Amino acid sequence: MLNLQQYNSKGNTMPQKHATVHHSEKPRKLKKIGVFTSGGDSPGMNAAIRAVTRTAITNGLQVIGIVGGYEGMIQGDFRELSWLDVSGILQTGGTILKTARSQEFRTKEGRKKACESLLKEEIDAVVVIGGDGSFTGALAFSEEYDIPFVGIPGTIDNDIFGTEYTIGYDSALNTVVQAVDKIKDTAVSHGRIFFIEVMGREAGLLALNSGIAVGAEVILIPESTNDQKVFEHFISKGYKRKKTSGIVIIAEGDEMGGALKIAEKAEKENPDLDIRVSILGHMQRGGSPTAKDRIAASKMGVAAVEALIDNRQNIMIGLKHEQVVHVPFSEAVKLNHAIDENLIKIQHILNS
Ligand code: ATP
Repeated sequence: MLNLQQYNSKGNTMPQKHATVHHSEKPRKLKKIGVFTSGGDSPGMNAAIRAVTRTAITNGLQVIGIVGGYEGMIQGDFRELSWLDVSGILQTGGTILKTARSQEFRTKEGRKKACESLLKEEIDAVVVIGGDGSFTGALAFSEEYDIPFVGIPGTIDNDIFGTEYTIGYDSALNTVVQAVDKIKDTAVSHGRIFFIEVMGREAGLLALNSGIAVGAEVILIPESTNDQKVFEHFISKGYKRKKTSGIVIIAEGDEMGGALKIAEKAEKENPDLDIRVSILGHMQRGGSPTAKDRIAASKMGVAAVEALIDNRQNIMIGLKHEQVVHVPFSEAVKLNHAIDENLIKIQHILNS
């Protein structure tokens, strides 16, 4: 903890921070809140920006959009958002506030500049829409400065502890399923095996659920420990006996490697198999959000502003059984979202 005496643009002393609190005892008078998107974009972020903006305006607050994630906060790239500024964006992918990965915010000096920008603009509290990296940044900031942050989980990985859902996951899942259905048509026609790589550097939920939804023969994810065995079984007699075409879904962060590497190995060992590779890439992040993502983003956006009004801080808004929950940033970023073993069982019963 830094022993800093911070001053805002009017020369007033900024309160020193001594611990990460989730509920401030002192009633807070909010006038102006900031909102920004950070890390990888995901479909539904715009719906969340809209919900935050309109809930704030309904409660008499001014809303400032921070453009370009933490980098925009450091640079003071701010624009006021009105009710109409967020009309027509509910159904659009991407983020109207842009997003970025900021190295500077990882430094104390960067966070100091970000705090100065917020104070200069007289922003009283901030809503951050992003993944666990973005919440780690908010946590670091909250340990040094006393401007409250509330987070909304927005990532296609759905891997954040404390929430059953993150905005963008359902849209990405449907995008993968539509793409693989098309690839499957050609796989069957030619009798080929397609090795399809989907996003997920550390999380395999997108791969696992899309694999179940398309009837993939094998799904390889970072969380599983017996990928090698399952794969060898598939590629040897078990596979050849049953089918002439097939789909293998691979999360990009699988410990056996990406789709190219695994396909190369399989080809070497089985030259008679007709193997092709398809890496779905960034198409998974784009497109119009599904109804599920729009609804989740709307729920969480409203809840985030209500939490700030209710003196909450340093928490992420989550959903459990469709209901809003508050999860301290410290838990959301430290703990892992475990993979549902039942999904792995389902995959094995239906496709091995
Ligand atoms: P996604 O899950 O889509 O990758 P994310 O929010 O996890 O989203 P990151 O790139 O990990 O994306 O983090 C976003 C930004 O948060 C970083 O560019 C950086 O500015 C800030 N950040 C991440 N980790 C830290 C940290 N330890 N300290 C300070 N800031 C951080």
